Amino acid sequence: MNILFIGPPGSGKGTQSKRLQDRFGLVHLSTGDMFREAITRQTQVGMKAKGFMDRGEYVPDSVVIDLIRDRLSAPDCKQGFILDGFPRTEPQAEALDGLLAGMGMKLDAIFQFDVAKRVLVERLSSRRVCRNCGSTVSQDQVESVGAECSKDSAKKCDFYQRSDDAPEVVGRRIEVYENQTAPIVGFYSKKPGFLKVDADQQPDAVYGILERALGPA
Ligand code: ADP
Repeated sequence: MNILFIGPPGSGKGTQSKRLQDRFGLVHLSTGDMFREAITRQTQVGMKAKGFMDRGEYVPDSVVIDLIRDRLSAPDCKQGFILDGFPRTEPQAEALDGLLAGMGMKLDAIFQFDVAKRVLVERLSSRRVCRNCGSTVSQDQVESVGAECSKDSAKKCDFYQRSDDAPEVVGRRIEVYENQTAPIVGFYSKKPGFLKVDADQQPDAVYGILERALGPA
């Protein structure tokens, strides 16, 4: 099963990806995570992406498309995947169509995450991410969360604030989404398997909607 998540930053795509990944045995393909990893490893892709990401802008299409082409052709993607954060522009959407057709694959479900802008700003500005396992909590939960880190159960999560979640960058990211990504929602809304999800709800409620739409694992 191949799933596409489309929605603004802070709409909960990453949170739901992690849950569906475990439930359905899918590979989570987050271009944002791939870029952050590339930056940490100081690869060429990472160097190209860093400046754009720090400003809250999109990495050039050619860089993103090359990255996803390589990743989608890896054998583990045959078991099914969740695309989270790609495509974000019209050329990326066209490239994805071509890539999938070339590999004899298709998207089985397309979920649009719908959340009001005011809520997004609040969520992103207070978001903290675990350096090791990538799970997210809001700032006021950092102290109370005693959860074991899913990467290393002997440790607690090590939360930090992503540099692009700084309040001065958050507004720019939402603006870039509205200008460049919102227009491709119309393209996907006509495809089979499309569902608009009210994502201004608790994660469990959103997950319930996705699970019902996907049917039994
Ligand atoms: P969010 O969805 O919370 O904005 P991501 O982790 O998905 O966060 O992405 C972080 C940043 O990575 C984006 O703001 C952008 O700079 C870059 N990025 C990720 N995916 C893409 C993409 N498909 N096209 C262009 N840039 C991307």
